[in-house]
Amino acid sequence: MKLPAHHWPEFQPGWVWLCGAGPGDAGLLTLHALNGLSQADVVVHDALVGPEILAMAPQAELIHAGKRGGKPSAKQTDISLKLVELAREGKRVLRLKGGDPFVFGRGGEEGAALKAAGVPMRIIPGISAGIGGLAYAGIPVTHRDVNQSVTFITGHDQTAETPQTLDWQAISKASEVLVIYMGMKHIGQIAGALLAAGRPAGEPVAVVTDATLPSQRVLETTLGALEADIAAAGMTPPAIICIGRVVEKRAVLNWLGT
Ligand code: SAH
Repeated sequence: MKLPAHHWPEFQPGWVWLCGAGPGDAGLLTLHALNGLSQADVVVHDALVGPEILAMAPQAELIHAGKRGGKPSAKQTDISLKLVELAREGKRVLRLKGGDPFVFGRGGEEGAALKAAGVPMRIIPGISAGIGGLAYAGIPVTHRDVNQSVTFITGHDQTAETPQTLDWQAISKASEVLVIYMGMKHIGQIAGALLAAGRPAGEPVAVVTDATLPSQRVLETTLGALEADIAAAGMTPPAIICIGRVVEKRAVLNWLGT
């Protein structure tokens, strides 16, 4: 694809571009990401980056960094070391991560490792699943009628257990809208903690799996019925879970009709 006229950065050998690929739909890549894909010697990508996007770098070697929730954190060090090694070989390294690299994507850790190793980098933000993925389900993360803040939460900590360190009492009071990434494994526990903290059982919730992809599915339910309804619908990760009255806006904004 030809990029429109602009002073696009040249991908220098020995550099790493730490780049977001967006939530899935290839049309949600940024032009900087597309520019990186067209020049990279090697693309080190996550499991969530689909084949349609990777096909935009036919000249590049593809390395699957395949990290999904639940793997030991030692693997993260391996990925960072691999990025440093490839850069030192003089490669143009595109590190391509689902969504935005700095949103629950450990991009900060990889960037710090590159910095410590003296490897030059560019950071390319992406559309995060918790915003863009919900938009494809017809859910605005903020709406003037509903909320003046949003809280983004990860349902896993580094050990892939529920974040016991999270203060669910505080979270439940923090915002009218909560957006949970990686929440499926522990959804019963998370919903229970929020109910115990006073969020109403009838509060609307949406679960969006494979957001922005042709396989996207949306389940509308309530906090009280969440765990049972996810099981009944047979929904599996990756999923974004949105809790709050913005979910009701789907009635008008569900442009895809999923
Ligand atoms: N950096 C990514 C998030 C990585 S964590 C971002 O900004 O979007 C991985 C989690 O993101 C998944 O477990 C899921 O909760 C969410 N996610 C990513 N892509 C998704 C998609 N297409 N549909 C639903 N959830 C998605």
